[in-house]
Amino acid sequence: MNCMRNLPILLPCLVALITIVFATEHSPDKPTIERLSNGEARVTFQAAADHFYRIDASTDLKTWLPLATVEGEDTIEYLDSEATYAGSRHYRAVALESADILTGDYFSTTDGIVTIHPIDHASFVMEWKGKWIYNDPVGGSTRYRAFPKADLILVGHQHGDHFNAGTLSGVMKDDIVTVTPDDVFGRMSTSLKSLKSATSLKSATSTLGNGDTLDAIGLKVEAVPACNDRHPKGRDNGYVLTIGGMRFYMSGDTGATDEMRTLTNIDVAFVCMNLPFTMTIDEAASAVRDFKPTFMYPYHHRGSDIPMFKELVGKDVGVAVRIREWY
Ligand code: ZN
Ligand code: ZN
Repeated sequence: MNCMRNLPILLPCLVALITIVFATEHSPDKPTIERLSNGEARVTFQAAADHFYRIDASTDLKTWLPLATVEGEDTIEYLDSEATYAGSRHYRAVALESADILTGDYFSTTDGIVTIHPIDHASFVMEWKGKWIYNDPVGGSTRYRAFPKADLILVGHQHGDHFNAGTLSGVMKDDIVTVTPDDVFGRMSTSLKSLKSATSLKSATSTLGNGDTLDAIGLKVEAVPACNDRHPKGRDNGYVLTIGGMRFYMSGDTGATDEMRTLTNIDVAFVCMNLPFTMTIDEAASAVRDFKPTFMYPYHHRGSDIPMFKELVGKDVGVAVRIREWY
């Protein structure tokens, strides 16, 4: 159960941000807001270790949209990358009281809230209306023990940082929909393959080629090309999910293809950038500047200079780059 405690502390108005942060018993000191030179807002407040806080934003102090849940350390710093484009916003932090709190980012669709939970490298988990979506789950099922098992799993291609049959088996619900390219299906165990013959899409492995679509668990999955010299064209998939009117793109392993550059109406993008398997940060930034997602997460970026990538994207095309901990 969420709760707010004590009285709000009114903060000084800084650079057009009127900001209120609700104090909690774990954050008694004055929080601060700082507008950075690139337009982002940094919200800083004292917190207690091992306590969780949800950070909300509002334009009118009436309707609050959740931005993220974060775990307390002595000091919490939350960087609102959307503030560059959002104009004046109010913020508050709400102490959360529950036994099972997951940190992550929130997106408000026309049909409920989607939360994003980075796991590692190319792997992440999304939650929507009690359904759990796993992207490229690898590394063993214990890595996912904090999460309910998956209702929908997306696998992009055969490489071990995207496809691991043992992990798949360990994170599936009984009524699971798994989406893979043909190539990955051919590498699956007999038991995983047998799901393909299931008559109900409620428990099925579905193979999608580039351009194919599937409706599952109330959302739309579209397979899109993901290719470069190490990933033959047509073999592997990126995906676009349409959930409550919002479009979420996961690039998979790919170069800066024409297909990526011409994606339209992407609200949230996960884009790879590391060599030798995907793109340089220059290629990735160039592609992102072309298709202009509203929010964008660098992922699959081990060893890359992500702050420099963010600088390369710049702020003139309206992309809010969110840097999160993937490693
Ligand atoms: Zn790969
Ligand atoms: Zn990869």
